[in-house]
Amino acid sequence: MRNPVGGHVPVAGGLATTGLAYARELEAEAVQVFVANPRGWATPGGNPAQDEKFRAECADDGLSAWVHAPYLINFGSHTEATVEQSVISLRHSLRRARQIGAPGVVVHTGSATGGRSREVALAQVRERMLPLLDELTHEDDPYLLLESTAGQGSSLCYLASDFGPYFEALDAHPRLGICLDTCHIFAAGHDLAAPQGVARTLDELVATVGEGRLKLIHANDSKDVVGAHKDRHANIGAGHIGEEPFRELMAHPATDGVPLIIETPGGKEGHAADVALLKKLR
Ligand SMILES: [Zn+2]
Repeated sequence: MRNPVGGHVPVAGGLATTGLAYARELEAEAVQVFVANPRGWATPGGNPAQDEKFRAECADDGLSAWVHAPYLINFGSHTEATVEQSVISLRHSLRRARQIGAPGVVVHTGSATGGRSREVALAQVRERMLPLLDELTHEDDPYLLLESTAGQGSSLCYLASDFGPYFEALDAHPRLGICLDTCHIFAAGHDLAAPQGVARTLDELVATVGEGRLKLIHANDSKDVVGAHKDRHANIGAGHIGEEPFRELMAHPATDGVPLIIETPGGKEGHAADVALLKKLR
């Protein structure tokens, strides 16, 4: 399928029992899950029965499953305890992804805190994140997907061109990829709603990191205007991006085969409507 469409699903109660039941109600063709509390540092082990059921049912339904790492992770932090926890937390998400058969783990690109320079922060990203990529030696290990931000504070990566220095810091590791969040990139200043805005943005991304690095899209509309540097997701077509850019997104060569995951408001009904709309625009 050119662009499987799905959503982030809740998993309290079990990856398979709760997560896949929700995915079916959305008629999702792809899912994203947390494997730990996204606002904490805990690294829970999986439930082997649920893991096995999840793997088997995803395979049966032809559903790809993606893992989103916790939000607290920041490899650019000037606080050593935060960096240490970030390493432990991301390693956990990568291991759990392999256990449940997920092809990728999404991690936020972080920020340079404490007034330090981007260069110093990126040197630390290299020192602490590159070893985790080097640990991905099994054939079924996941990709590590960098998700840029809306450009708040001292973000290390928000414009498409910012992926350049980030990839350089990580030696453009073969297991490195990108998760493009449409709300974030729009809020960062890329006007997806302008004529040729989607094509220009994707072309720039490919020119920066090369072909084949875009592995996942977070499909979210934006409650705020272009360049607002605010991360507030809206339902598809209900924000400042609008429907048409999503149609263009799914026609661009760089997104061929790339799944779309919605992270929008509105509960289950809102999610089902967004999945249906994206399928219609596809
Ligand atoms: Zn996102």
